[in-house]
Amino acid sequence: MEFLERLARLAETDRVAIRYRDVALTFAQLDAQSDAFAAWLLETFGEDRTPILLWGHKDLALPVCMFGALKAGRAYVPVDTTFPADRVARILEQVRPRLAVNLSGGALEAPVVLDAAALEAILRRPAAKDRRSWVGPSDVAYMLFTSGSTGNPKGVQITAGNIAAFCRGVEPWFRLEGDGGVFLNEISYSFDVSVCPLYYGLGRGMTLWTVDKDTLGDTKALFQSLEASGLDIWVSTPSLGEICLQSPRFRRELLPRVQKFVFCGEVMTCRLGAEMLERFPGAKVYNAYGPTETTVLVTAVEITPEMCSGRPALPIGYGFSNLECRILDPETHAPVPDGESGELAIVGDCVSPGYFRQPEQTARVFFTAEDGRRGYRTGDLCRRGADGLIDYFGRLDGQVKLNGFRVELEDVEANLLKVDNIARAAVLPVTVDGTVQGLTAFILLEKPDGMTSLQRAKAVKQALGALLPSYMVPRKIRCVDRFPLNPNGKIDKKALADLV
Ligand code: AMP
Repeated sequence: MEFLERLARLAETDRVAIRYRDVALTFAQLDAQSDAFAAWLLETFGEDRTPILLWGHKDLALPVCMFGALKAGRAYVPVDTTFPADRVARILEQVRPRLAVNLSGGALEAPVVLDAAALEAILRRPAAKDRRSWVGPSDVAYMLFTSGSTGNPKGVQITAGNIAAFCRGVEPWFRLEGDGGVFLNEISYSFDVSVCPLYYGLGRGMTLWTVDKDTLGDTKALFQSLEASGLDIWVSTPSLGEICLQSPRFRRELLPRVQKFVFCGEVMTCRLGAEMLERFPGAKVYNAYGPTETTVLVTAVEITPEMCSGRPALPIGYGFSNLECRILDPETHAPVPDGESGELAIVGDCVSPGYFRQPEQTARVFFTAEDGRRGYRTGDLCRRGADGLIDYFGRLDGQVKLNGFRVELEDVEANLLKVDNIARAAVLPVTVDGTVQGLTAFILLEKPDGMTSLQRAKAVKQALGALLPSYMVPRKIRCVDRFPLNPNGKIDKKALADLV
């Protein structure tokens, strides 16, 4: 794997790979410790190549385990600490790992579980590098579990070849002037935007500046961290950009070195684009787009002041040069002419082999193109202009982005039905100026519960919080006596929306 070769070469320098809190992990340490982990995996599990589960947040040991897994020919499944135990149990049921590394402090069951202390002892052991066991281009490197419409998370499999295609495609957009640089590392490892710092950043010898969720949640600490960072490149969701813009301190003086801001993962407003250009003169600002299924990003565009007026949202950009963007009729899947809107499909080496052990869900959205390349229908309604620039108009299904997190409304609904005394449920996004600001759940009770609305909302949210990550729990819970139904007997969400 080209990335692991790069890591081995960088290990001969004295560069720092990752900074987290006051600790610096050098490339030499990252390479040696991942070799040690790989050697232990091979020694302990032999030829068994079952993926391994990594439950933690931004711990320095996580990237070590990720690359160690790849060096031992195994895929890893990163799961963030925001996932409650029940969600983790559902992922475990699907993956059935022989090994779980548990740095979360929560309880987890697997045949072998390593806590921080046990892991540390393994990483300290000297080990030789054995390239023969490294993952190859068609081997799965990682699996990310995203919200699934059935109420169960689904695992997107990404191969080493997909990662290499991503790093090639994104090169012109991420490339920095000069050698090295500092890359923002704030997205949880269970979301694919984190692949940008991990594989592109580290692969180009950059240092990752880690910001964890506690720091993100505390504006003072966040700005202290940014001030100390020396960042050269920032990749985040627009949501983080919007939060930072609330402070007048978020400007050039705070990040004097920054060359590029890349926003991705959800709609980027013109306001964000215009403000960023004004506050960070000399820096380039980009909007980039991509689903997890096509390895992080597939389109991008540099934002200009002209683009930021006269439209509600910014275009998602041009397809990367090593893949093809197609606009298809959502029903027939036939290509539609430029200038007409349709479903965006991506064809190329970046496209995942499919969902883990979900052949039906895979067949529904993945396909093989005429020339044998892999394709994925994104479910995003888009239009390409004659100049190749693609505009995004929203989803064709019940998936929403909430503060950058991907949420299937049906996933929340299915989990609401697991809560005691709920007979039916529907969840709607609350949208302000085209951006989803929160979720409202409508519930029909099986029998009266004698609670006030406030008590009930609290109880339902608490029960749901044990099943879903906190970002998926609706802010508002409203009880209805009956649901408005459409002619086919399904809940009429349009009529329900009038109630919001
Ligand atoms: P995820 O798999 O979590 O990265 O989510 C992918 C989905 O996020 C896409 O299918 C889009 O619906 C949405 N998305 C990603 N990037 C953008 C963007 N720049 N603008 C609008 N929507 C985006």
